[in-house]
Amino acid sequence: MSACAACELRFAACVDIDAYVRACAPMAPRNGDDGASGGACAVCLGILQIASDADARALEDGEREAARRVLEIDDVGAFARRAVSRGHGGMAGYRFRVVLPAATLTRERAMRATRGIDDATRVTGIDEVLRMLARKSLGEALGCEEDSTAAYALTAKYKYGDDAKETEFLSSVSLKLSKEERKGKFRGKHLKWHKGGKRKRGTTEADFLSHLSSPEDPFAEEFETAERAYEDAAKRLADAKFADASFWLSNSDVTLAAPRFRARCIVEAFHEPVHVGGWYVKLDRGVPQSPWVMRETGKRVGRGSVVEAIESVVLDKFASRGAKFNSSGREDMDVRMLSEGRPFASQVHDPKRPTVSADEIAEMERTINAKCDQTGVRVRGLCLTTKEHYHAVGQHSEESEKEKSYVAICRISRRVTAEDHKTIAAVSNLVVQQSTPTRVVHRRTDMVRPRTIVHMSSEPIPGAPDALILRLRTQAGTYIKEFVHGDGGRTKPSLGDLLGCKAQILQLDVTEVDDAWNPSGAAPNAESVQ
Ligand SMILES: [Zn+2]
Repeated sequence: MSACAACELRFAACVDIDAYVRACAPMAPRNGDDGASGGACAVCLGILQIASDADARALEDGEREAARRVLEIDDVGAFARRAVSRGHGGMAGYRFRVVLPAATLTRERAMRATRGIDDATRVTGIDEVLRMLARKSLGEALGCEEDSTAAYALTAKYKYGDDAKETEFLSSVSLKLSKEERKGKFRGKHLKWHKGGKRKRGTTEADFLSHLSSPEDPFAEEFETAERAYEDAAKRLADAKFADASFWLSNSDVTLAAPRFRARCIVEAFHEPVHVGGWYVKLDRGVPQSPWVMRETGKRVGRGSVVEAIESVVLDKFASRGAKFNSSGREDMDVRMLSEGRPFASQVHDPKRPTVSADEIAEMERTINAKCDQTGVRVRGLCLTTKEHYHAVGQHSEESEKEKSYVAICRISRRVTAEDHKTIAAVSNLVVQQSTPTRVVHRRTDMVRPRTIVHMSSEPIPGAPDALILRLRTQAGTYIKEFVHGDGGRTKPSLGDLLGCKAQILQLDVTEVDDAWNPSGAAPNAESVQ
């Protein structure tokens, strides 16, 4: 079994960076060998046979090499060039994650057996050596230090063509998984982001809906699968069956053979999401909360959307290509959201520019509000928030003890009298039996839901004798439109029932959402929206 000079140092428990730099050598010329081993190390599969930064500076083809997705990493600087090409900046620190083929584990065990090195003896890991080698160039290129807790991660995943074949013998040992692990293994932590199939690359900004299906971590599945294969192999290797050196010596044709290929590398950079939150006010009707496209025609319904009005500015500032929007409920497209607004938060995915100042947040708010004439949307209290706050938005907004306030313009089938206003004002904790509204019954279970009208008030509209302004405070989940017109008798009693006539609703606005959620933990500045 021929090991490279770097692996020899690892087995000698060397931790001297200079020694590794001297030991790592470029592979033999690859011209025409199409990934063949070319004398790749039988332990690290060529992963450590790379040039130092100094040697790399002499290589002219570096940039061309960095542009390829699958790299044969020939020099340490490739990591840095790849990282820079991903465009991230302003990070507080970087994490360098290395995902190795499982065959490096079995080969290392075979190496220990042939050399009589017991399990207690420490051998420097391949990932440790890579991290040491890359530290200087990564630090210079990214302008920050390595930090294992950093939100920005650079991952180098090595793929080895014979990995499955060489580690197949491990499957004779069953894997003992904890309940938690089994869940993760079969469901996949991030699989829900990938329902739509394979990740698309190079989606254009014109594809205005693409950001709605944006994955929180686009590489999670790809890297987690490989990482899990490695971890599974490590667990199986702990079995007593493999403890005896003779096992490895008798299976040397698999575990000690010269590799047919050199391991190839995929390098990706990713920044964990940042979150912003606040309250939005929708001043125009005809604006849906999220982009609405008719499935049949592919045509848009309504004018823009609340999500786009906010995220077009936010994504631009964070140099991100996708986000997810969360809010405390939603109003119908033809309903305005007034007064203090509705709590919302955006999860901004893979920001290339993750750090923004308080001034820039304020500027984002001003920019969104300056476009209100076109979008009909304003925000207030915009601030950076946390993942926990993002997920907490609206979590309790539909709970039955929550209340909402509305103002509606209604018309009835006769003149409005002073007696009508008295009838309305007398309503207190009126329980209304609501069958699922006709307009949503195709997508919701048809059932009767009792909801409470907490109180109401009304006022006449000068010049419109058959109309009135109705103010309501209701339990969350009350369908206001149906309460007014009765939905063909499916809501009882209705406003029409109370007044003994027919009633219709002309306009509806939400004036208060009862949700104590606060993205910053501080009281919002209510004066920022007029
Ligand atoms: Zn090696």
